[in-house]
Order: sequence, then structure tokens, then C-alpha cells
Amino acid sequence: MQNMNVKGDRLWESLMEMAKIGATEKGGCCRLALTDLDKEGRDLFSSWCNDAGCTIKVDKMGNIFARRAGTRDDLPPVMTGSHLDTQPTGGKYDGVFGVLAGLEVLRTLNDFDVKTEHPIEVAVWTNEEGSRFAPAMVASGVFAGVFDLEYGLSRADLDGKTMGEELKRIGYAGTEEVGGREIKAFFEAHIEQGPILEHEEKTIGVVMGAQGQRWYEITITGQEAHAGPTPMARRKDALVAASKIVCEVNRIGLDNQPFACATVGLIQSSPNSRNTIPGEVFFTVDFRHPKDEILSKMDAELRAFAEKTAKDGGYEMKFEEIWYSPPVEFDKDCVNAVRKGSEIAGYSHMDIISGAGHDACYVSRVAPTGMIFVPCENGISHNEEEEATPEDLAAGCNVLLHAIVERANIV
Ligand SMILES: [Zn+2]
Repeated sequence: MQNMNVKGDRLWESLMEMAKIGATEKGGCCRLALTDLDKEGRDLFSSWCNDAGCTIKVDKMGNIFARRAGTRDDLPPVMTGSHLDTQPTGGKYDGVFGVLAGLEVLRTLNDFDVKTEHPIEVAVWTNEEGSRFAPAMVASGVFAGVFDLEYGLSRADLDGKTMGEELKRIGYAGTEEVGGREIKAFFEAHIEQGPILEHEEKTIGVVMGAQGQRWYEITITGQEAHAGPTPMARRKDALVAASKIVCEVNRIGLDNQPFACATVGLIQSSPNSRNTIPGEVFFTVDFRHPKDEILSKMDAELRAFAEKTAKDGGYEMKFEEIWYSPPVEFDKDCVNAVRKGSEIAGYSHMDIISGAGHDACYVSRVAPTGMIFVPCENGISHNEEEEATPEDLAAGCNVLLHAIVERANIV
């Protein structure tokens, strides 16, 4: 087992071959969900899986499952995978790496003639990006019971075409029921899409889970007045109150390290005129943390400060929490399998929290789940310039191999 290694060249060549479908001039990829190009990518993946001796099933959300039989095919499969769709100006690795790393694991098991007790499946989740059809990760969401099938199929793009219609058009409206079956373990390999591994000079990120999020919209109403004749002491400047809250948001982020993120990214001041005291300010707050207790504490601190600021200054305030997404904690055994895999293969590694959403976050609601991160250049993703090295990608794939066989039991 220790000596079993994936073929990094073969993985790289497959990635480059897939990247030709929807290739952009700047070296990226535009392969939006359920377009003709997405069909081409799916067909290519399926033909590779056929060549590797897999059976292929497609479910009603168009999720593809390529299955390598186990010696006990009645046992639940160990599953891996990610997505083949990209952003309009996406890169070559986001999602695609996780799918083709899964394929490379199957090819390697074939090379070494290794049989596993549990079957192994490589999944391609439909429309992860949410770029053409909102929301993101809708098909793994249906699989995990977060959304119902009807909701998933009725998602429409800007031209009014639904996912259901487009799946039929490209020939990927499958017949399998979506989800509802037992999975032994799910692993997703992915580029980090952030700068931490590169900065820490580590090859593998052992992903512990994903951040929870709380989003707010706040409107502060003061009083518009002339910037000249109105004395400072008699003003109700809504932007001044908002600024205090912006600084407090930043303070809350800094005081809840490690891991807390706190951002005011959008602000609209009205009437936005240089010689009028701002009468109304609308702004957003984005809080993230992997622990729900801390996220709640951040929430309480923000509310208390905002209320006090509004009260003390005689402002009116509308404070709304518009979205809450609980933190995801991955399965201990799966996380350990990833860490152990990194150690067996001899790669430097560190524990890490995902700042972005992934199909694995939804799948983790119905199956023990873990993720493997590899570095990407300057942490840049969702960008045509997204880059990762063949060595790091091969390393991530080797860790995936070890994690999968640990769960699937070599016979
Ligand atoms: Zn992705």
C-alpha cells in the first residue's frame, strides 16, 4: 500500500485535456452548467470511466456516478468527486481536479490490480458553481435532502431555461432517484482557493469543516441637513453612526481569531452629496466562523453595539439578519483518514477550515465526509489565471487514494 502511487502525469494530462473544452484566451475555462460544453466535458469523463471499467449511472438531477465494483457489491460505496462546471471566467482546476483525481484513483487501483471490499464511486455534481442557475451546489443539495427535486429541476437561467429542460436537452436527465442511499464515506479533493497552504508552505490541507455564515442588512436613519449651517453638536449624521458599526464589525473579527471573518463590503449613503449631511445609510455585514458558539457570540456583540449606537445618537435603525448557514464539521474518521494518508505518503500537512462552500458540505449531512485541499498559486481562484502545480495536484490525489482505500478495505 505504501508503495502505491498515482500517476501524476496522467492526472495532469487529463486535466489539460478537459481544460480544452471551453478554453478561454487567458488560459482559463468557461464551461457553464448544462451547456453544450458541459455536455462535452461530461461525455469525455464518462468515456474515460468506461475505459476504466466502471459502470455509469445518472440521477434525475444529472449527477453522474461512475462505479468501480467492490468484492462485496452489496456494501455502501466509498464515494469521491466534485464538479465539472466552471465560472464564466473560471480556471482549469476548481472542481475538475476533484473529479479527475477520483478517476486517477480508479485508474491506479486498476494498474495495481487492487480489489476493495466496498465499491468506489466517482461523482460529478451538477451545477456546483451556481453561476448559470442559482443557488450554488443545488444538485448535491437535492442529494442531501436540503432541497426537493422539483425545486432543483425548476431553477432557471436568465433566459428562463430550467435545469430540468436543459438536462433533457443535453441527454443527462437520468432515471436514478437522487440520494436516499447509504454511503460509507465521501471525500472531495479541491484546490484551496485561498492563500494559507502556500503561505505556510504545506502541501496538504486536512479540511476540518467549513465556516458558518451570518449575513445582515442594516439601515441607519438620521437627518439630512446642510453641511455648512448645521453645527456639529446638532447633527444626526447616519454615516457617522454606520462608521462606528463598521469599526466594531472589524473589531469583532479581530477579537475572535483564529478563523473569524467580519466584513462590511457594501455601503450606500444617501443622498451621497458632498455638502449634505448623510440622512440614511444602508450597509451589509458578513460574519463567518467554523464554531457556531462563536458565531452566536459575534452576533450578540454586533446587535448590542448597533442598538447602543442607534439609541445614544437618536437614530432609527432597521437591523435584519438575512441569511444563516450553520458551520459544517466533517466526520472525525474521514478527517483522520486524510491526515493519515498525508503521513503515509510523506507530505507536509496542516489542519484547515474551508472558507468557501463545496458539494462536500451538503453531502456531509447524509454521509461521513472529509476534504483534501492542495495549494493554488497566490490563493487565486474563480479566475482564468487559477494555477496549481502538477506535483501538488498529484500529492492531493495520492492522499485521496490512501483515504479511499482505508475506508474501502483492500481485500
Ligand atoms: Zn469548486
